[in-house]
Amino acid sequence: MIPVRDDLRALDGYHSAQVEVDVRLNTNESPFPPPDGFRDALASELSRVDWNRYPDRSAHALRADIADLHGVDPTQVFVANGSNEVLQTVLLAYAGPGRTVATFEPTYQMHAQIARVTGASVVEGERGADFTLDPAEVERVLAGAAPDVVFLTSPNNPTGLVEPRERVEQLLASAPGLVVVDEAYAQFSDWTALDLVDDSRPLVVTRTFSKTWSMAGARLGYLVGPTWLVSELDKVVLPYHLDVVKQLAGRIALRFSTEMNERVATLVSERDRISDALSALPIDVFDSGANFILFRPRDVDGRTVWQQLVDRSVLVRDCSSWPRLDNCLRVTVGTPDENTRFLSALTAIVNDDT
Ligand code: PMP
Repeated sequence: MIPVRDDLRALDGYHSAQVEVDVRLNTNESPFPPPDGFRDALASELSRVDWNRYPDRSAHALRADIADLHGVDPTQVFVANGSNEVLQTVLLAYAGPGRTVATFEPTYQMHAQIARVTGASVVEGERGADFTLDPAEVERVLAGAAPDVVFLTSPNNPTGLVEPRERVEQLLASAPGLVVVDEAYAQFSDWTALDLVDDSRPLVVTRTFSKTWSMAGARLGYLVGPTWLVSELDKVVLPYHLDVVKQLAGRIALRFSTEMNERVATLVSERDRISDALSALPIDVFDSGANFILFRPRDVDGRTVWQQLVDRSVLVRDCSSWPRLDNCLRVTVGTPDENTRFLSALTAIVNDDT
């Protein structure tokens, strides 16, 4: 064995238990496949692909379609292999050795993880016990660390909390560097920071096709940001990083926005049904604007509840040993049947019906 970089030695990878179960509600995917029309259109386009040629290096057509969706210029759109690769490219360009990245914990673990992999230092601000973010804490972190990049996730993962618009505006007013608003789940909430994006502001908003667009398998994400920033990212990303199939799949998916919006509406109403049902049990439930819900059983240990759900063939995310998330579990909203199955299993467990 040869030694890895010193600063990587202490890093732990990203883990999510993959267990064989009937009901998988652990990774915030869409429970619905894309519409049949999507599959048919993609299959027919694929039969005409020039496989011997590299794909369009800058994914012009896809960027233009995404730009149309949001009413921005194609030069304000950057596309990559999942929003994780979008975040990585941003951090390669704007973080790295000698620079500082700030997060407000608990939040999506990959922000700090990717920042560290680029060699940056990470400063963790703290949310309150109810996971809201105090404006004074934002000021403290910005003044103390002067971060080159600061992250806000709205709705936040794993808490589900929607960040108020004032918090993004506060960051824009006070942050010395780049503000990244991760909106992987924004379609399930009631507002977006997209209309704050402008060439005069150091703000990017990241989005993904993995959730709403039922395309986690394709790995496609993007950001909307200032033109000058997008040109820097284009220098950093590998040539031809976005394959021809993904470019087609993304463009075709965008033709089905009516179906996708119907799926979002179903998931939002199922989320509210799950939330109400959990609140009637001896469980603390956190408000969610996403396609998942964080909850904390009051009388039974979180890890035990997780295992007993697995025993009933239901898999949720075990956050019970994560910092600041004592005893918490996170359930992804599934199909109505999956949700009912989850709720009856959980009800039996917390009421101790064996
Ligand atoms: N941001 C957040 C907040 C997420 O929860 C996730 C997925 N778990 C991602 C980004 C990455 O999504 P993807 O790479 O599938 O686009």
